[in-house]
Amino acid sequence: MEYDFTALDRFLRYVQIDTQSDPHAETTPSTEKQKDLSRLLVKELLAIGIVDAEMDEHGYVYATIPANTEKQVPVICFCSHVDTSPESSGANVKPIIHKNYQGGTITLPADPNIKIDPEAHPELKKKIGNDIITADGTTLLGADNKAGVAAIMDVAHYFSKHPEVKHGAIRILFTPDEEIGRGADKVDVKKLGAEFGYTVDGEALGSFEDETFSADMVNITIEGVNFHPGFAKGKLESALKAASELIAALPKDTWSPETTDGREGFVHPYEMKAGIEKAELTFIIRSFEDAVLSEYERQLETTLIDVMRRFPKSTYSFEVKEQYRNMKNVVNACPQVSEYAIAAIERSGLEPITGSIRGGTDGSKLSFMGLPCPNIFAGEHSFHSKMEWASVQDMQKAVETLVNLACIWEERS
Ligand SMILES: [Zn+2]
Repeated sequence: MEYDFTALDRFLRYVQIDTQSDPHAETTPSTEKQKDLSRLLVKELLAIGIVDAEMDEHGYVYATIPANTEKQVPVICFCSHVDTSPESSGANVKPIIHKNYQGGTITLPADPNIKIDPEAHPELKKKIGNDIITADGTTLLGADNKAGVAAIMDVAHYFSKHPEVKHGAIRILFTPDEEIGRGADKVDVKKLGAEFGYTVDGEALGSFEDETFSADMVNITIEGVNFHPGFAKGKLESALKAASELIAALPKDTWSPETTDGREGFVHPYEMKAGIEKAELTFIIRSFEDAVLSEYERQLETTLIDVMRRFPKSTYSFEVKEQYRNMKNVVNACPQVSEYAIAAIERSGLEPITGSIRGGTDGSKLSFMGLPCPNIFAGEHSFHSKMEWASVQDMQKAVETLVNLACIWEERS
């Protein structure tokens, strides 16, 4: 594509704005600072000439690239999230461009212990000659998902410069709090007014995903019996010990993120707060099959009941909360959504890599809110860590793919 891409400049600007979300906050957005980026995006969209760009009270950005064709084309939506993961600091991100990467390990200047080794990051081996962006070793980069945000912004810019390229109306949606599983919660689907959507939050160049995990959270509370330790014989029941026994009773060689891959799911104790009187445990449960999800939960509760037999005066609660569901059934009901995406990737000169996400996206929930919404690559790698990296050339290919996708929807309508 002959075009002066703006994705890199935008990306470098966006990653320097701290937008880390916070799972413990109850507000939307979970952190006010996410609005700093959302506000900037609205300003830049207005500057591009997108007159209806706006941020709502919850920090969601809505905007429209208006149709420029006579044809009736379904409204599609491109969606990315502005927040970064709570797992690694996103404050004072200092992006570094490693121009014309020639292979070998990338060492990050602020912490020589953080190395990006192509043996551990095989995708990097394919990027010889690319310009690789990393952080400096003290923070994550935030390519997840600011590479996607920058790509979508550049698509808006591209169409403003190329009125001769025909497309239907494209809705832009930037969400907060995706990393804490709430990105789609406050999306006003009616106001969005799109028929089909795409999150731009995928990893490898050319990748496309129409399947995510189904996900539940399980909260377990154990109430023990507390006594002065000097006089506790035969009376005290420690909630902390009961909780520890539950964790110890979990399978060692299966069931966990560290022992599963591919299409296997897992049961993952995620957080524990425990004392004598009370223990609170949070698990996340994941599987591509809803039936397996329920089976995991049944087995976990059975294990808990078993442990609690040894703590007869203590009580417990076991609460399952639905987080999101595998989008596949919804997306497969409208095959053109995936077909056109694959065609767009091919038209950009790439080999499509289709797969399943061992996680969720805003698209998983949006699909069940009436907006079938698979995921397209943005060129982000090593999510949520200080080793996060992205390739400038991949980001530009993401822009090209989205432009082609909008054109294909127009052509085939
Ligand atoms: Zn993401």
